[in-house]
Amino acid sequence: MSTDLKNAQRVVVKIGSALLTDSETGKLNRTWLQALVADVARMRARGQEMMIVSSGAISLGRRALKLAPGKLKLEESQAAAAVGQIGLAHAFQEILSAYGFSCAQILLTLEDTEERRRYLNARSTIATLLKLGAVPVINENDTVATSEIRYGDNDRLAARVASMVSADCLVLLSDVDGLYTAPPHIPGAEHLAEVTEITPEIEAMAGDAASIYSRGGMKTKIAAARIATEGGAHMAIANGRALHPLKAIEDGARCTWFAAHSTPVASRKRWISGSLKSLGTITIDAGAVKALERGRSLLPAGITAIEGDFGRGDAVTVRDARGHEIARGLSAYSSDDARTIMGHSSHETEELLGYSGRAEMIHRDDLVLKKP
Ligand code: GLU
Repeated sequence: MSTDLKNAQRVVVKIGSALLTDSETGKLNRTWLQALVADVARMRARGQEMMIVSSGAISLGRRALKLAPGKLKLEESQAAAAVGQIGLAHAFQEILSAYGFSCAQILLTLEDTEERRRYLNARSTIATLLKLGAVPVINENDTVATSEIRYGDNDRLAARVASMVSADCLVLLSDVDGLYTAPPHIPGAEHLAEVTEITPEIEAMAGDAASIYSRGGMKTKIAAARIATEGGAHMAIANGRALHPLKAIEDGARCTWFAAHSTPVASRKRWISGSLKSLGTITIDAGAVKALERGRSLLPAGITAIEGDFGRGDAVTVRDARGHEIARGLSAYSSDDARTIMGHSSHETEELLGYSGRAEMIHRDDLVLKKP
């Protein structure tokens, strides 16, 4: 399965705090980070799209603020994150720019990945950054996320990011080299190189051990594997301690791979057509029907009628002039705005609405054609 990393198109790499910061001094491990970025650069040179989910803000910040060792109160970890995140972003920017990359910082909350409208915004911003050649460096916005609405661990955050951006590979780098049938120090514990199905037995193999620096243990990694593989991404749990951890995985280093059951596109389309309730209907002209059949996006110009009351990001049904369902998709505009811009060309949108929205009413990635 090491070929999964080589062949993946869009890769999310999650780095645990234990790798980024020195456990003795709490300082950033620059040499390690430089080697990781060298791996990222090599993969980019092969044409792979790369993004990083990085922990470490709280562990860097607590040292800067001289907070006592041990468990932090919520407000202390939020304060630590506010301080540490700057140092983290600075280090990434310096090291990535030495390789000629623009570094893009993205701080997400749980709601950004769960609420459809915000999710679509985050998704398209990250896609744009990748298209422009930047390397997104993502963390949870720990400073504003309160306990009830935060991930708290970057394993699940990274998995949600992977499925949100339709990545086909997620690598969780931490200080463990994968999943074992029993705690690794127990005689007879066997390492699993590949997991094809996350069964209750697999879930039972995950203990909760997490270090004081990182929030995620094996449980959150298995939860991440469930999210990632359902979203169409293969996922690896790998030990990132040595320099060049991504190169090591490619060269066959021991790790556990969780196999995805479908592709990111198939899983996203299944989600759009299967799990979302349609809140309105968009009727389109014959020209637009042809365009959709050729795999294009739906533009406002081809719309002849709007029914229902929906918001941006809601699911809608697309019909032809005779009322036949052609497709399902996620609308980039609310029903009110859609009524204003329907029949008009995309460059008139700003004048009609007073803000510049997306060129498409439904982007082709958000559109699922009905089988004839
Ligand atoms: N978001 C946290 C930080 O940057 C880390 C969470 C985790 O360790 O998984 O410090």
